Amino acid sequence: MLNCLKSQFLLVSGSPPNPCDNPIGDHYLLKSIKNKIDYCRLHGIEIVYNMAHLDKDLSGYWSKLPLIRRLMLSHPEIEWIWWMDSDALFTDMVFEIPVSKYENHNLVIHGYPDLLEKKSWIALNTGSVLFRNCQWTLDLMDTWAPMGPKGPTRNEAGKVVTAFLSGRPSFEADDQSALIYLLISQKDVWMNKVFVENSYYLHGFWTGLVDKYEEMVEKYHPGLGDERWPFVTHFVGCKPCGSYADYPVEKCLKSMERAFNFADNQVLKLYGFRHRGLLSPNIKRMRNETTTPLVYVDQFDIRHGGSKS
Ligand code: UDP
Ligand code: MN
Repeated sequence: MLNCLKSQFLLVSGSPPNPCDNPIGDHYLLKSIKNKIDYCRLHGIEIVYNMAHLDKDLSGYWSKLPLIRRLMLSHPEIEWIWWMDSDALFTDMVFEIPVSKYENHNLVIHGYPDLLEKKSWIALNTGSVLFRNCQWTLDLMDTWAPMGPKGPTRNEAGKVVTAFLSGRPSFEADDQSALIYLLISQKDVWMNKVFVENSYYLHGFWTGLVDKYEEMVEKYHPGLGDERWPFVTHFVGCKPCGSYADYPVEKCLKSMERAFNFADNQVLKLYGFRHRGLLSPNIKRMRNETTTPLVYVDQFDIRHGGSKS
């Protein structure tokens, strides 16, 4: 049995083994990895990116389960495994997970208790989740994974979760619906160790956020993590790597470009540069602005226990 008290994050992400249907998808996957590496470098977090299908039955969105399970077992020194989808970007490069809040919890997931009460299929989001590396999580995975095997099992589980959850279209079981189903139907077993977070955007739904970046820059500053400066912007329904999306491809790509550059500006500011615009890959030296980003230097120094000089 694994110990439940350790002290580190491992950020885990991944994407399908094959190239995307469209090369632009691969381009955005690369930008998304770069964005994650930047955040992790600034905050001293290790990162793992996986493109293999470790279990042929648990393919697609279910592939995070066998991956997380393996990483938990092979990295007992890691306290939290932090899964982040490939279509989720860090948009606050300063904010840090308030981990001490979760001392008594083993799963931290963005969501809304009132939606959970209503059995909504979007009550929780599995695009950016923290799993404590301990026996409880292994047990959860063991209960969750049997709904995932591709084919008849996943199809049947899809019928069960659609009948149980409100608002869910009928399709094969996805990991998110299966988890919500499990947590509601076995509430007494799991929920006392689940922290439903919505005080900041551990996951933030992209529509409604990406159009406000200019306003955010004008009024606020990084480090807030909530709607004023969202920690994570998740492009749910965009499927940049796939051929089917719920939103127009152009809108998705433009929005992802804006989110990437919004985040990249926060990194570049450390060096006195910024993008020419949120849609421009070109950067320029900052003029008429402080080239020494004191606010950032202070914040990072404090976090890493260094001096301000
Ligand atoms: N994923 C993966 N391998 C795959 C398919 C998906 O690692 O073969 C990951 C990828 O990070 C993706 C997440 O699982 O963002 C969720 O998968 P989904 O197909 O739902 O994509 P999304 O909803 O994020 O577009
Ligand atoms: Mn996603």
